[in-house]
Parts: sequence; structure tokens; C-alpha cells
Amino acid sequence: MAPRIVIVGAGMAGLACADALAAAGAQVTLVDKGRAPGGRMSTRRVETALGEAAFDHGAQYFTARDDRFLSRVAHWAAEGIVSRWPEAGEHAWVARPGMSALPRHIAGKHDVLQGRLVRAMVRKLDGWHIRLEEDTVGPFDQAVVALPAEQAAALLGMCDFTFGRVAASCPSQPCWAGMYVLPEPIAAPPVIRNAGAIGWAARNNAKPGRSGPEAWIVQADTNWSKQFLEREPAEVAPLLLEQFGLAIGASLPEPLHAVAHRWRYARSGNAAKRYLWSPALGLGACGDWLIGPRVENAWLSGDALGAAMIETMRDHRSAPGRASGIGIGVDRASA
Ligand SMILES: Cc1cc2nc3c(=O)[nH]c(=O)nc-3n(C[C@H](O)[C@H](O)[C@H](O)COP(=O)(O)OP(=O)(O)OC[C@H]3O[C@@H](n4cnc5c(N)ncnc54)[C@H](O)[C@@H]3O)c2cc1C
Repeated sequence: MAPRIVIVGAGMAGLACADALAAAGAQVTLVDKGRAPGGRMSTRRVETALGEAAFDHGAQYFTARDDRFLSRVAHWAAEGIVSRWPEAGEHAWVARPGMSALPRHIAGKHDVLQGRLVRAMVRKLDGWHIRLEEDTVGPFDQAVVALPAEQAAALLGMCDFTFGRVAASCPSQPCWAGMYVLPEPIAAPPVIRNAGAIGWAARNNAKPGRSGPEAWIVQADTNWSKQFLEREPAEVAPLLLEQFGLAIGASLPEPLHAVAHRWRYARSGNAAKRYLWSPALGLGACGDWLIGPRVENAWLSGDALGAAMIETMRDHRSAPGRASGIGIGVDRASA
């Protein structure tokens, strides 16, 4: 029978892991608390008097430098899911028509339970049971945690002290992101980096495959984001727009739409582990925080964990009984 594997988190890391495992014949279920897959690769749409506007309010683009990732990106490009975005740099790509299109495309091939917050993971004799708010799913032969480090630490800590400690010692940095629809185009380049309190700003409607009214995504730098972290979004939206105006030296028109989003765990740390995997427990972890704060790293982490899990399954088939008990053959952290 195909091994049953549950992946908690359907961001880029969880999806890459799912792809690798499903390609090897595993029966994969992803569980995610969000309304749609993608996590920090997300796109928001709003109706305005000038038509629909869209914002990539998490990841703005992704880089592709690793050969394995590059070859996957080439497939997505051939399918029309991603395009290069030269304004953001030589190695920059975006999904079309919004960043969320890529995780949605990958998730379409898998069984994904959306809108399901995982509260706990319990390993019993028959396998892993995943406790949700109102019910439990399982049993699964193996379980993967594919969440930002702080959220991973909470779940992993209940299952394995070492894994929990690795995640807990890899804190993320926050980011306030403002989304503004303006009544007319402003005189500014399509991409602005590190200007005053602004870490990044981009004209979303000018990215490849986008259209619609003048829509700006404005991200505060880490210091500003930390300083205003506990303020209300409604309070932050005009303050961040003011900072944007100061950064580009322009007085901005009254926006048709102004909303701020707080990403508490925006930029991951770097645990320098690539992934965590315990064959004995049948428990793994992947995510950007294991390599560094990028979409490409999240994909590489999930893909590498999937490969390690497949390797264990092959070993197990050729030598049944190996790495089957707790504490036997534990490879807690790969290099
Ligand atoms: C504002 C911002 C700008 C960024 N800009 C860039 C950029 O330009 N280029 C770049 O490469 N990267 C950028 N990043 C980073 C990039 O988005 C991440 O590195 C990458 O998306 C991380 O993927 P992941 O799968 O590791 O985690 P995530 O995308 O965070 O996925 C984790 C998933 O777990 C789910 N989840 C969390 N807790 C639970 C729970 N208890 N139960 C069930 N589900 C749960 C979430 O809903 C989410 O879908 C940016 C991030 C932010 C926030």
C-alpha cells in the first residue's frame, strides 16, 4: 500500500515536498489554515471605481538560481504560469496573473484541506493523528511540518524536543505591507528599494501579466515594521502611505483604496539545516527558515525533504525493520 503522508502547511515548501512525494507514489494530504494555498505567496483583489485592482502582498517575485529549481521554473514558464520580471533583477520571476497562481497551480494536483487550523499532532501506534479545531484527521504513516519557524516550533515541540528547539531558535522578522489604489498614475519608477522607511515598493499593475488601475504595494523596512508592529492596520495604512510619499518626494493623491497587512513572520531566519527528518518518528520539517528567506529556498527545502523521505522508504523496502522504531536511525538534521 502507498504510504500515507500528511503535510501541515500548503505554502511553497509544503507543496514542493508534496510534489516530490506524490511523484514517488505516496498518498499525500496537505492541511492548511488559509482559504487558499500559497501562504506568503498570496494575491489580493479589490473592486474599485476604476475596476478591479490586484496586489501581491507577500512575496513580490522569486529568484531562480539553483539548477534543480531552474529546471522546474522552465516547466512552469512553458505552461505560462510564470514570467521573468527584469525590473526586479536578472534572476527574478513572477507568477501570472498574480503570485498566488503558482501555488494554486501546484496545489491543483494534490489533496488539500483548506481552512483547517492544525492545533496538535499526536503519534499513536497506528501513526500520526492531526488534531484540527473541531475534528481529527489520520492516521498517517509520516508527517511533515511546513510552517514558518515560530508556528513550526509550536507543533514540533509537542513531538520532538530537538526539532522544536531548532525551530524556536530561528526567529523571523515582521513586515507591514500597504496596498493602495490611486486615482491616477504617479511619477515613480515601477520598483523602489530601500528609500527612507520603505524597504520595497512596486507598481503591481505594471508587473508581467497584470493590468488594472494604479495599484501600489508598499512594504515598510524591518525597523519601521517593528516600531509599529502592534498598531491597528487601519492606523498603519495612512502612516505607511505618508512614508511612501516622503520616500519618493511626491505628494500623493487621496487613495481609492488603502489597506495595511501585518506579516508577523515575513522574513525567516536561516537555520542552515535544509530540512529536518527523523525516519524513526516519521516526522519531518521544511520551510524557508531552514535555508533562508526566499521562495526558492522554501521550494528547495521541501523538495530536499521529499527526496530524503523517499530514500527512507526505499531503504525500508530493501531492509524492512530498519529505522522503524523511535530512536533508531534518526537523522535529525541534514547538512
Ligand atoms: C511581505 C513579504 C515579502 C516577501 N518578498 C519576497 C520576495 O520578493 N522574494 C522571495 O523569494 N521571497 C519573499 N518573501 C518570502 C517568501 O514569501 C517565503 O520565503 C516563502 O513563501 C515561504 O514559503 P513556506 O512554504 O516556507 O511558508 P509559508 O508560505 O508561510 O507557508 C506556510 C503555510 O502554513 C499555513 N499554516 C500556518 N500555521 C498553520 C497551522 N497551525 N495549521 C495549518 N496551516 C498552517 C499557512 O496558512 C501557510 O499557507 C516575502 C515574504 C513576505 C511576507
